[in-house]
Amino acid sequence: MSSPIGRRSFLKTGLAAGAVAALPAGTERAVQAAAQAPAIRKGGPRPVVIASANGHRFKNGGTLTCVAQAFDLMVKDTDVLHALITGVNIVELDPEDDSVGYGGLPNAEGVVQLDSCCMHGPRKRAGGVACLEGVRTPSKVARAVMQHTDHHLLVGQGAQDFARRMGFTVEVDLNTEHSRKLWLEWKRRVDPEHWLDPDKRADAGFRAGMEMVREGLIDSEHYYGTINCNGVNAKGEVCGVTTTSGLAWKIPGRVGDSPILGAGLYVDNAVGAAGSTGRGEANLYGLSSFLIVELMRRGMKPKDAGMEALRRIQAATVEKRLLNARGLPNFGVSFYVLGADGEHAGVSMYASTYAVCDEQGPRILPTEALFPGKAGE
Ligand code: ASP
Repeated sequence: MSSPIGRRSFLKTGLAAGAVAALPAGTERAVQAAAQAPAIRKGGPRPVVIASANGHRFKNGGTLTCVAQAFDLMVKDTDVLHALITGVNIVELDPEDDSVGYGGLPNAEGVVQLDSCCMHGPRKRAGGVACLEGVRTPSKVARAVMQHTDHHLLVGQGAQDFARRMGFTVEVDLNTEHSRKLWLEWKRRVDPEHWLDPDKRADAGFRAGMEMVREGLIDSEHYYGTINCNGVNAKGEVCGVTTTSGLAWKIPGRVGDSPILGAGLYVDNAVGAAGSTGRGEANLYGLSSFLIVELMRRGMKPKDAGMEALRRIQAATVEKRLLNARGLPNFGVSFYVLGADGEHAGVSMYASTYAVCDEQGPRILPTEALFPGKAGE
């Protein structure tokens, strides 16, 4: 079935072609060029951008959400990765999303440390940063690592020095009033003076965080919280980007799945892309995004490949502290899976949502959940 974009474009180019004889010289070439424009080429994949649900929630004072902005640029034949990064920049810069970029929830010492990675399918290049302080848009620094170095991952001070040398503005503090207030509240609840043994301290920290989620102080999606955004254009070029402030109140230096290629994101131009949000430690154990792309390579549909990765996470979750009363994982993990043909799925451990933008416009769709109910039940 041809997509509405295909039909619209066909009508447009068909009409234009009919009028060519009456038009000035050179117009015919322009009409042909338009007909061959990647955004409207016949037979290619249906262009689509998908993202975690915050990809269609925040606008940073503008008019477009991440997926709408990325789709808009992508169909104008902008490089797919450039389009996706421009999209996630909206969320990174929006102080209201406290899971990504500026105003992301800080680590246990109150410092915002950001992680990101990106992959360019056609160019087979990738870059990432972890524990980056002071730069609001870690996804752009990840792209600079990809573009300007032979390496895939820069961390901590090295990542910041690199960013400064590449001309990024480095700020002393990326907290907003909101993120600082929540951190202070968490500190107060955990009572840092006792410095309990590591297990008890981790438990106390986790309990205090969950309590704050239950009380509605922190959006349940933002205790863990990230944006992953993947897209394919009509030429079949697939790219992806993931960017996060990571786990709220993490031990300084903690890196989750988001900037790790194969975990927070994986792209293979011939197959598709997968990325994640949720408990990074669970994803890292099985490099789920790589797994999902490999399963698709072997013929699985995006949804089935994503569900299989969730089942593997469940199988690897055996510690009591990570299980709920039903004996199931007491945390959320979601994957955003995009085939190179444009087929996509959002899958999650428990009910959630994801963002999509295609020729029908930007919208939120439910994910396919592995288990009913909620993580904490
Ligand atoms: N996956 C991220 C991490 O573990 C956080 C999240 O997506 O919620 O750092």
